[in-house]
Amino acid sequence: MAKTAPFHSINSSVHHNNTKCTEGNNIERENRRSGTGGKPLCSHCLRL
Ligand SMILES: [Zn+2]
Repeated sequence: MAKTAPFHSINSSVHHNNTKCTEGNNIERENRRSGTGGKPLCSHCLRL
């Protein structure tokens, strides 16, 4: 478990809260925003 503050990509419909999420780690820095963006949690983060 490596929970972190929620973040999301402006190009994605989900948010992430785990540093081990490959999908979250693939977000390019310019597209990454802090907070949930009002989006649901990514299914990969949900399982981590
Ligand atoms: Zn995720």
